[in-house]
Amino acid sequence: AGKKALVLGLAKSGHAAATLLSDCGAVVTLNDFAPEDNNPLVAELRDKGVTVICGGHPDTILHEGFDFIVKNPGIPYSNPVIIQAEQLGVPIWTEIELAYLISDAPIIAITGSNGKTTTTTLLYHMLNIGNLHPLIAGNIGTVASTVARHATKEEAIVLEASSFQLMGVDAFRPHIAIWTNLYEAHLDYHGSAEAYAEAKAQVTKNQTATDFLIFNADQPEIQRYISETNATLVPFTTKGRSVQGISADELSIYWLGEPIISRKKITLPGAHNLENILSATAAALLYGCERSAIESVLSSFTGVRHRMQFVKEFNGRKFYNDSKATNTLATKSALSSFETPTILIAGGLDRGHSFEELRPHMNNVKAVIGIGETGDRFVQFAYSCGVRVAKEAGTLPEAMKEAYAVSEKGDTVLLSPACASWDQYPNFEARGDEFIGAVQQLKI
Ligand code: ADP
Repeated sequence: AGKKALVLGLAKSGHAAATLLSDCGAVVTLNDFAPEDNNPLVAELRDKGVTVICGGHPDTILHEGFDFIVKNPGIPYSNPVIIQAEQLGVPIWTEIELAYLISDAPIIAITGSNGKTTTTTLLYHMLNIGNLHPLIAGNIGTVASTVARHATKEEAIVLEASSFQLMGVDAFRPHIAIWTNLYEAHLDYHGSAEAYAEAKAQVTKNQTATDFLIFNADQPEIQRYISETNATLVPFTTKGRSVQGISADELSIYWLGEPIISRKKITLPGAHNLENILSATAAALLYGCERSAIESVLSSFTGVRHRMQFVKEFNGRKFYNDSKATNTLATKSALSSFETPTILIAGGLDRGHSFEELRPHMNNVKAVIGIGETGDRFVQFAYSCGVRVAKEAGTLPEAMKEAYAVSEKGDTVLLSPACASWDQYPNFEARGDEFIGAVQQLKI
């Protein structure tokens, strides 16, 4: 109350942050580069007493003397207001900092380059079945500060946190943090691989010995960035039984070296998903979840929508929707998840990138159906890998017909495009939905 706050960027999180701050009694200004365009949120905020300035960033905006800035995670640090604010020493937060400050509910934060949504979802289901009252927040669901302001101490905020959000934390201290993995990403935003990793490491910077950091021990590069944490470390590894943290071999999942869940019970396919299962299970156990609740989720969970999601089995063929795979790394994970002959539907927006990274994983691929702008390049690539059948189909429903026609009982039909969707769809969700629709319409 009484603090002067500047919220930069309207969108969902800016609206939530400005509303929250204003309700707390702060004096709030909201600034967005985009014009007002009769945005109903602007009127709503003005009614609350928020000063809204749209259509640019006035040079003089910081002359007001703000106590802090809450920045939309999408706004780069090269933004002139942010540069000025850094020079003036004004703290620059993202709204997950507000979420932390406003709530007494424990936070379990999940970050990493890949697997955040899957891990967050798995953990949410485990705590839910275990009657531990989880609330899901962040990119995956409702804005964190909105969830946090209504949360009670008895609830747990399961928060998917991106590196963009973690750049803007100060006191943020999750009781449990998960760092899934580290791959090079978002270099345009963070400037370097180092800065990107350091942003992720912010997740643990305020943790103490009563908090936990669950991290991928199969990627030694992560350890460099967490060497100074005070958190209790909980490593996870898929490379065999270990007495530390959580681990897995072909037979079982082990907690501190003791078998806890048989691998046979797990329904979610993919080596990469085993990592997500381990970190979610470790967090659930540390949070006091009953093992039976964890087991019940692991023996029924078939994937998050559009991420290696099992759609259905039809006439002996299994259909998987991995529309979220918008790059070759994700499609590589998908292909290495199946031992059955696979018909791959792939292609999309042409960014000129090569598919070579997939070559070692094409052994089980018996046919490729290319879609979108890169459909023809995918077909050429498939032939060069020795795939016998490769065809281009203009649209997904056509691709589905082709895929089904060349499939046999026991095959897997997989949409894992290795490309963004924007050449044909507004987003990867729309592409995945069309795939699911086409699967549902299949007839013998
Ligand atoms: P995020 O939320 O971090 O983008 P998702 O859970 O949505 O991650 O998964 C996105 C894609 O990344 C999946 O379709 C899968 O191909 C790949 N993926 C998921 N988990 C992992 C992991 N632990 N390691 C490597 N790749 C993964």
